[in-house]
This record gives sequence, structure tokens and C-alpha cells, in this order.
Amino acid sequence: MIQLEEIQRDEIAQHAERDYPYECCGLLLGRFEAPGLKSISEIYAISNAREEQAKRSRFLIRPEELLQGEQYAAERGLDVIGFYHSHPDHPAVPSQYDLEHAWPVYSYIVVSVMAGAAGDLRSWEMESDRSTFTEEEILGSNKDS
Ligand SMILES: [Zn+2]
Repeated sequence: MIQLEEIQRDEIAQHAERDYPYECCGLLLGRFEAPGLKSISEIYAISNAREEQAKRSRFLIRPEELLQGEQYAAERGLDVIGFYHSHPDHPAVPSQYDLEHAWPVYSYIVVSVMAGAAGDLRSWEMESDRSTFTEEEILGSNKDS
């Protein structure tokens, strides 16, 4: 399970719409609260619009960008707990490419952007044998409380 507040959900959606029709990507910063439970405190946007080939089909985070994000997180007492990226005009389901480039333990949030409007947002974890992604439950903030 992963805890995602409304404000971070909105930030991911806005980033995804801003970079449409290209994929956006970024880091999820927060804490590993307990086995099977993560909480997101902040998102760390990384633009994906650079190499022509990478623009449309795949998200790519360079090692130095990941390192910068990890340093930013550490300064705030947070960890990198996962990644997010958008799927322009495709469902919020990880691709084969995503699976081949994923690591265990981290959460992978995918947001679908249909015709420029962010919609479905789902979170995934890769199985430890790297065979597939399993959907992870997202706990939202309770607006009524
Ligand atoms: Zn993807």
C-alpha cells in the first residue's frame, strides 16, 4: 500500500499534462513506514522531454538525476520510495519496457493522459522475481475528516 495525498496527486497530474504529448517522469519521496506500506511526502519532478527517441515512448531517468533526487530527499530526511511517469494516450498500466527497467521494492505510479487530460492514476510494484508488476493499493487522504 502507498499513501498519496491529494496535493501530490494533483502535482503528478499537472506535470503529466504539462509534458503532454510527451511522457513526464519524476521521483516519489517519502518513507518506508512498514513492510508493505509507503507514504509519499513530496514529488520530485524530472522532465523527460529531451532525446527525440525517448520523448514519446519511454521514461528515462539518468543516474545523475537520480543521485540529485536522492541528495535532495536525504537533506529532508526522506527516501526515494519510487517513481512516477505518464502514459500519453495509453492506460495507466506499466509497459514491457517499464518492467525491464524496474527495480523491486520501489513503487511505480503511472498516470494516463488522454487527449491532454490526466485521468487514471495507478501504482505498481514489481514482483521480486521480476516477472510482472502487481497493482498496489493507493490510500488517499480522507477529505471528510
Ligand atoms: Zn511506462
